[in-house]
Amino acid sequence: MSLPIFPGSVDAAGQPATLGVMGGGQLGRMFVHAAQRLGYFTAVLDPDPTSPAGRVSHHHIQTGYSDAAGLAQLASLCAAVTTEFENVPADALQTLAAIRPVAPGAAAVAIAQNRIEEKAHFTASAGVAGVTCAPYAVIETPAQLAAVPADLLPGILKTARMGYDGKGQVRVRSTAELAAAWADLKQVPCVLEKLLPLKAECSVIVARGWDGTITGFTPQYNVHVDGILAVTAAYEGNMPPALAQRARAATESIANHIAYVGVLCVEFFVIDDGSADGALVVNEMAPRPHNSGHYTMDACDVSQFDLQVHAMAGLPLPQPRQHSPAIMLNLLGDVWFNAAGQLHAPDWQAVLALPGTHLHLYGKLEARPGRKMGHLTVTGADVAGVTAVARQAAQLLGLPGLDALR
Ligand code: ATP
Ligand code: MG
Repeated sequence: MSLPIFPGSVDAAGQPATLGVMGGGQLGRMFVHAAQRLGYFTAVLDPDPTSPAGRVSHHHIQTGYSDAAGLAQLASLCAAVTTEFENVPADALQTLAAIRPVAPGAAAVAIAQNRIEEKAHFTASAGVAGVTCAPYAVIETPAQLAAVPADLLPGILKTARMGYDGKGQVRVRSTAELAAAWADLKQVPCVLEKLLPLKAECSVIVARGWDGTITGFTPQYNVHVDGILAVTAAYEGNMPPALAQRARAATESIANHIAYVGVLCVEFFVIDDGSADGALVVNEMAPRPHNSGHYTMDACDVSQFDLQVHAMAGLPLPQPRQHSPAIMLNLLGDVWFNAAGQLHAPDWQAVLALPGTHLHLYGKLEARPGRKMGHLTVTGADVAGVTAVARQAAQLLGLPGLDALR
């Protein structure tokens, strides 16, 4: 199969142009929606029979991510394959890549899977734009633990692999706490990062094509609560323009350095360095669309999922235009519980009566605290109006985080 893969086309054997995705979570579901809108058929590989993306896809291959038969079936159905979560085994992507175009590739995903490699990559590439990582030390051996410089404390010990939504992280104040935390984490490879005084957090989403073209969005301002994204603010003035420009330049450099293909999100901290704007520190990257880019579906003429489809299929990469200021509120399972801890239905009637609200639920039938169930995007003619409606919605749903907006 060669690129570009034309949407809506049917090959000589009568097979419709089909795009595949490794992983069946909400990001896969929104990818499937975007691909189907263009006329593609879709295939999802995810072992969970109730996965959000599997439920809406033409094909759902219910095997493990490394299952040889499942991967062979995906490759035979699909003209190209992408991924929706970074913990897909890199080997599986490599297997698929021998047969079909795979974007992003195994090498890029492998970097994002390992904080140690990720930081080395950032040091080599983001530095071009004058952006550094938080001071850190790699801890893989007792000798490295003993040699940790005191000025990295207080710090956050993070497992090198498999962390998400603040999982696999422990805050430590002393060398004794550090040693205990590493023991608790079963002495797996970790990085200790200095705890930084964050002024703010932001992220940048770009798409890079097979030919090296890059397009993307202006930086989003993000608020995290308990290590999980709570609010994204996307509008002009959400952050100082010089800082926004530097974040975008660093992201492009990070993507170019590994000839990345697909949608890439890079997360940054803004720290107080005495200057008016603050300084940028690069935190981590996601080799896929990102929660902080969900507003693009309602506030831009081209969404992050549209870019994912275009990039993998070798279609032209449009430069998205944002037509409305937007605030996105994440809807965690907590919203489905009242103060007494009992399950209750959120008051969607009241929320959807507010102007410019766009509700996205991911088809997960069981609400659990901390589980990402959906999101609500608020769009409108101006920032003041959007902010006012977002506040009303947040109050109705009991959502935190809006007070931290700039
Ligand atoms: P994600 O779901 O974004 O993949 P994660 O579990 O990989 O999350 P990080 O992004 O590393 O974890 O950290 C989660 C949050 O914890 C950050 O968004 C930030 O609010 C806080 N945090 C992480 N590292 C630091 C640090 N060095 N200093 C201060 N705060 C930090
Ligand atoms: Mg993060």
